[in-house]
Amino acid sequence: MLNEINQLPDGFLTAHVEELFGLLEKPTLIHLAGEKPEPLFICTLLHGNEDTGFYALQAILKKYQNKKLPRSLSIFIGNPEAAAENKRRLERQVDFNRIWPGTHEDFLAEAHMMQQVTDIMKQKNVFVSIDIHNNTGRNPHYGCINVLDKRYLALAGMFSNIVVYFTSPKGVQSAAFAELCPAVTLECGQSGQVDGIQHAVNYIDRCLNLEHHPDHIPDHISLFHTVARVTIPEGYSFGFSDDATINLHPEIEMHNFTELQPGEALASIEPDSCAFLQAFDENDREVGRDYFEYSGNDIIIRKPVMPSMLTKNTTVIRQDCLCYLMEKISLPD
Ligand SMILES: [Zn+2]
Repeated sequence: MLNEINQLPDGFLTAHVEELFGLLEKPTLIHLAGEKPEPLFICTLLHGNEDTGFYALQAILKKYQNKKLPRSLSIFIGNPEAAAENKRRLERQVDFNRIWPGTHEDFLAEAHMMQQVTDIMKQKNVFVSIDIHNNTGRNPHYGCINVLDKRYLALAGMFSNIVVYFTSPKGVQSAAFAELCPAVTLECGQSGQVDGIQHAVNYIDRCLNLEHHPDHIPDHISLFHTVARVTIPEGYSFGFSDDATINLHPEIEMHNFTELQPGEALASIEPDSCAFLQAFDENDREVGRDYFEYSGNDIIIRKPVMPSMLTKNTTVIRQDCLCYLMEKISLPD
């Protein structure tokens, strides 16, 4: 299933993201030698419609085209097949960022492939791991970590003042690699935005030129802890006007990274439908009643909380979730 190569395939530097599948044919791990042997690992396109990481890599590789990389670089192009169709994943595929070591679905062939990638990078003594994603909704750029350790916070803090710590969902790439080295997931705004690509380019370049793991946590960082993942129960129709069972407010994306206060309405429901939102905590317990109340036909916030990744993309809401809920936490000493 996995393609492993030691050089860039012809056409890689000029390809459009949709053409990658033609060049690579399957998920591909590319190793490029540099001055320092412990490789920087860059993972991208685990979600096929999130292309910022790929275009940032093209820019970096062009920059170093005629000179030696300061550090070896290993690149994993996760799901070029879904990228060819500009989709997060194909209908028959699983989510490629839920099947890394630590996943509940380790019996899958795709999970075996991610285990292989992890084992290969462990053997190569991976230096730092960066997984690059995009959001579908309006969000600031931020870094995510899965371990509250100084080096991991410092690495995320090199990217953004906003750092999100989470331990659920399971099977994400950055959590698997956190066992091997400082690891971060970058959320670079929406796909196709030039500032997101440039931000990722600058960050990758700084990481390529690091002498050792950063260990200084900048004091301007705001650290948030993801406490719940919100979904819409399968049986209910939903939308952004007034004709579904759950009607989300159309300006919902404006709430990302803003604190919601008790009483704030997120959606209205069809009268007498008893429709509700689900929220799952880090242990996958349903805790919707802790966060939402039902008043008349409105779904309202029950306690102060900050959402992220709220989106109006209905496919993503069904395939992934409506949003995550976060609480601010203090930096460890
Ligand atoms: Zn993603």
